[in-house]
Amino acid sequence: SSGLVWFRRDLRSTDHAALHHALRQCQQVHCAFVFDTEILDPLPRADRRVEFIRESLVELDASLRELSGDAHGGLIACHGLARDELPALARQLGVQAVFANHDDEPQALERDEHVRSVLLALGIRLLTFKDHTVFERGEVLTQSGTPYTVFTPYKNAWLRKIDDFYLSAYPVEPRARRLAPRPEGLRRPVHSLNALGFEPTGLAQLRLPTGMQGAQQLLDDFLERIDAYDEARDFPAVKGPSYLSVHLRFGTLSIRQAARLAHERSARGSAGAATWLSELIWRDFYFQVLAHHPQIAGGASFKPAYDAIEWDSGAHADALFAAWCEGRTGYPLVDAAMAQINQTGYMHNRLRMVVASFLAKDLGVDWRRGERYFAEKLNDFDLSANNGGWQWASSSGCDAQPYFRIFNPVSQSRKFDPEGRFIRRYLPQLAKLPDAALHAPWLARPLELQAAGVTLGEDYPRPVVDHDEARQRTLARYAVVKKAD
Ligand code: FAD
Repeated sequence: SSGLVWFRRDLRSTDHAALHHALRQCQQVHCAFVFDTEILDPLPRADRRVEFIRESLVELDASLRELSGDAHGGLIACHGLARDELPALARQLGVQAVFANHDDEPQALERDEHVRSVLLALGIRLLTFKDHTVFERGEVLTQSGTPYTVFTPYKNAWLRKIDDFYLSAYPVEPRARRLAPRPEGLRRPVHSLNALGFEPTGLAQLRLPTGMQGAQQLLDDFLERIDAYDEARDFPAVKGPSYLSVHLRFGTLSIRQAARLAHERSARGSAGAATWLSELIWRDFYFQVLAHHPQIAGGASFKPAYDAIEWDSGAHADALFAAWCEGRTGYPLVDAAMAQINQTGYMHNRLRMVVASFLAKDLGVDWRRGERYFAEKLNDFDLSANNGGWQWASSSGCDAQPYFRIFNPVSQSRKFDPEGRFIRRYLPQLAKLPDAALHAPWLARPLELQAAGVTLGEDYPRPVVDHDEARQRTLARYAVVKKAD
């Protein structure tokens, strides 16, 4: 029998559930990736993620060819509407089954159901597997069989359930010789960015290594400092986190491999590894929230009462939103963070919390606008974690911070970037200000500003809102949900 593995957000050739099962069940296995125009068409023409995917596929293609031991082995890359292309390819190859890994985003589920029915009409089965999470969907439930909506009990249940079985790899190598040569006519190389209609984004200059090798490089580097993660992770100027999110997003790193390493080191007493494992559990947590509550993908607040909040709108709100996007709010930590996402596609977790809170609770702008902006800019954009993070910050989500807890952007700046190293890196125009003045330049003495060559309103904006006044407005705005909380 023969099968086709459909790669989507799992761009690796090791520890891969669908590939493993296909190799077990079929004598001949083909591999394909579709650059799906449904996803690509709305994107800006310079998109780091498209370049990341493309580079990673070039590596995947070479790796599959090597595993197959055949010069004509490798990946069949297609460009078109996946819901049409994939069944057409399966038919052309004459396979009996298509193997893929779960993707629980509503749009992906809808696409997969469509593909499943088209394939079925052709007499081909679509078989899908858990791969992208350690636990998914209804695997970790409360004692009464309902999904968790609070993280800590979810995490405790996750930790009680975890064992070697869930963390072990799905091996590919033992049966890799079943990887089939590509038929003539399908032996084209992975499309160039140009052929896909995209422009290069300079990933190499960003030092964002792609593919399985890139993931391994970042993982090796992180393992050197994982023990200090719990202490270092909150300071954006420090190399504390792993920077692996984009690799977990596109599956160039297996979540089982990451979680296994964290679990082992945590069991040996590493507080850093235990905290990092917790972050991986947050990832699973938000995936299961989305699976159980798909309405959040369409803009609904997790807590429906929060949909009654009236956000500012009109030209003033538009101007504030534009200032936020472009890093012109006059709050240096917020502006430096926005410069980071705009220049690199990455933003440190502490800063994601700060800028999300600032948009909703200082600027009074609907958090969904920020969510969309992040979705466009983040290399690691994942609907579940992004929505979870935004709803956490705006207090409308499951296990979110209470609405009356409002981050003070200046205190956050003093606490988490005390020497202003991060701010100075992204806002060089403020570099000469003394540490104490850097977090709130409008409070600096005129002489300090003069000595640093900063004229407020020219070199750097004055604050677009007053935090204390904004805080009062936010408490009034959120009064509509007070009773529901
Ligand atoms: P590390 O600190 O090394 O963490 C390891 C991994 O754990 C991450 O790679 C990620 O996969 C996972 N993780 C960490 N924190 C979280 C979290 N809070 N929720 C879910 N998973 C987590 N993460 C995304 O992967 N994609 C997003 O689109 C995204 N949007 C966010 C939006 C907001 C408003 C907020 C507050 C957080 C968001 N996060 C998102 C979570 C977190 O900020 C990033 O995962 C993290 O900053 C990525 O950097 P890292 O790989 O160096 O993380």
